Amino acid sequence: MKVNGLPTKCRWKECLKCTCEGQLKECLHCKYTKRENSIPKENFTVKDKDGNDHLITEITVIVGEDGDIIGWHN
Ligand SMILES: [Zn+2]
Repeated sequence: MKVNGLPTKCRWKECLKCTCEGQLKECLHCKYTKRENSIPKENFTVKDKDGNDHLITEITVIVGEDGDIIGWHN
């Protein structure tokens, strides 16, 4: 899996610490960490509307203003 568009500087990692330990509401640090961990690391296949498999080997991430990962697309 090739991941394009990863931020070279992760601003949130430098200035955010976890503040939600023991609390119900998730802090930004944990939210951003979770999103980053959700980026696929292995190739995967998707089915198109005709039922054909397509191997996805490359994705591009969408980066927010804190250097956080908002999402990704192939
Ligand atoms: Zn936290």
